[in-house]
Amino acid sequence: MLYFDSAATLPVKDSVLSFYAEASHRFFANSGSLHEEGRKAAKELEKARRDILQTLSLPLSYKVIFTSGATESNNLLIKGLARRYAGRGKHIITSLGEHPSVLKTCKQLEKEGFSVTYLSLDSSLGAVSPSTLKEALRKDTILVSLMAINNETGAISPLEEYQQILSSYPKAIFHSDFTQSMFKGPLTPPYQAVDALSFSSHKLGGIKGHGVIVMKEKLDPFPILDGGGQEYGYRSGTVDVPGAMSVAFALKECQKEEKEVTNKVTLIRQKIENYLLEHKEDYKVHSFPLTSPYILNFSLIHQKSAVLLEYLSSKGIAVSTVSACSSKKEEASAPLLAMGESLALAKNSIRLSFSSLNSLEEVDTLLMHLEEARKTLVDRNL
Ligand code: PMP
Repeated sequence: MLYFDSAATLPVKDSVLSFYAEASHRFFANSGSLHEEGRKAAKELEKARRDILQTLSLPLSYKVIFTSGATESNNLLIKGLARRYAGRGKHIITSLGEHPSVLKTCKQLEKEGFSVTYLSLDSSLGAVSPSTLKEALRKDTILVSLMAINNETGAISPLEEYQQILSSYPKAIFHSDFTQSMFKGPLTPPYQAVDALSFSSHKLGGIKGHGVIVMKEKLDPFPILDGGGQEYGYRSGTVDVPGAMSVAFALKECQKEEKEVTNKVTLIRQKIENYLLEHKEDYKVHSFPLTSPYILNFSLIHQKSAVLLEYLSSKGIAVSTVSACSSKKEEASAPLLAMGESLALAKNSIRLSFSSLNSLEEVDTLLMHLEEARKTLVDRNL
């Protein structure tokens, strides 16, 4: 299998798995138990939080909450912060290009009486333009949620420019979904630019079912789960201490490998992009001045994306159409629509995403099959 779908998920790294297996034996106790084994587990849990903050170069006063994944992190942060600070205002800003775990959460908040502005994306940036954000801000804006790197297009948002604008709106909390952005190269926006961020472990070669919230200490979202009051009361339930430790470990591993992997995927992406650009009559490449080297998105002008995906799959090559979370339905890509792309091109887009597991030799095989498909699967009536 040639796997060009790393933005959907990655296999767990052997190093993370061995670390987790050992931690599971050594620190299996409930971190809430008062005996020696419980205290040992609680100590490791606190160390995992500190390790994550140190790896991200964030102040140790920030709060780190372990969740089941970025979906839960986004839900807890957005719902929790909106409900907690509703007394200050009921306006939220997000973009039409966000992941469904942000968009659908905002839709739910609208049902609860919040007013949500869904910003379009600027077609030249692939992200919200800072001036659009500025125009949308209001005195009653309490939360702005704009992702760091788009999971479908790889477009990088200018978070520092947003931060600069938001500095005149102290009531507005700035959250960013960093799920595709943890140690993904020098262009990744800085973690320091936001008040709260969320991510998932499995996109880093960590274990599935683990996510993180990192937020400034002053933030106090309402919990979604009530119970034993674990995770500062924000996320009740017995904590998977070895899991939390494994997230901190996986993150550190990614930091160590960042430069080497980024160099590798940059070459891979460039080679594929060059091929696509040679065939502008058949492909429209969605690249922006700031794009992640880990993601390459293009639309098929004369082919159906579902047909190409099936064809490549039959050759043992995994690619993705719209984000894995919604790709079972024949949907158009939300970020492409949000930047004004036509419905046909938004429906027929392909996302390739890369990791250390890919090689330039694999690209040769991919391009050979793309070329074959370009000659045989073309439908000029599209
Ligand atoms: N946000 C983004 C940007 C994502 O790419 C994903 C995963 N596709 C998520 C959130 C949700 O992550 P998870 O499925 O691990 O909860």
